[in-house]
Amino acid sequence: MPELPEVETMVRGLRPALSGRTVRRLELLDPTLLQGCTPGQLARRGRGATVVGVARRGKWVVMELAGNRGIIVIQPRMTGGFWLVEPARAEHVRLVFHVGNPGARVWYCDARRLGKVCWYADESAAAEAFARSHGPDALEIARDELARRLDRTSRGIKPTLMDQKVLAGIGNIYADETLHRARIHPERPASSLTAEEVERLHRSIGEVLATAIELEGSSFDAGYRTVLGLEGGFLAQNSVYGRKDQPCPTCARPILKTKIAGLVGRPTYYCPACQVRG
Ligand SMILES: [Zn+2]
Repeated sequence: MPELPEVETMVRGLRPALSGRTVRRLELLDPTLLQGCTPGQLARRGRGATVVGVARRGKWVVMELAGNRGIIVIQPRMTGGFWLVEPARAEHVRLVFHVGNPGARVWYCDARRLGKVCWYADESAAAEAFARSHGPDALEIARDELARRLDRTSRGIKPTLMDQKVLAGIGNIYADETLHRARIHPERPASSLTAEEVERLHRSIGEVLATAIELEGSSFDAGYRTVLGLEGGFLAQNSVYGRKDQPCPTCARPILKTKIAGLVGRPTYYCPACQVRG
């Protein structure tokens, strides 16, 4: 599922195609994804509107329309993604932005249709909606704020990092990579972390996410692709995720694959030597 680096990569790919461009038509092929207005309202608000900017908030893609036409938020969730080239699977297209020159299009595809297309009246309405279900963005959270939030729960640190209400943007892959880099066992109770460990964790979150954004995210299956249909490069050089029995890049011990409490159906990878339970 797209996490913060994949959504940031989508946003960076969309900007040159959408920012400053005029929407000729919004073609909504799957109205069940729409929230906050009717398909007719969306079409009227989109037609002729200029896209002021495209931004990321957590795992949301936020598009602002000029002239009080509102904000369109797309949440790719499990299988959503954007295409600037003709999508490989036409049957997965849910929304088409006809923008700029005649013939120019941007496609939103979603194989399992679990994503959402939401309309908000303005920036503050979108920000409020985000704040109701999310903590601060993982790239923006201050160390002290992270420490306060971790201190409130004795749940394992890994499920806590993946809880979007604690901080927004981190899922299974980047939780494993961040904890390995910070040398913290995934099942340590969040509130048991020392100040030094929180410091390491905070730094690791920033470093791992920055590297992943640079490499355009992670493609571990047919799901995520960049807007040009390419695979992200992060999993070609990461440390633990998907690397069962391969040597830890720090100490060469084999990486373990396991299941931990609080994460149904999702594996956890870690190094038993670098990440001792304590
Ligand atoms: Zn190790």
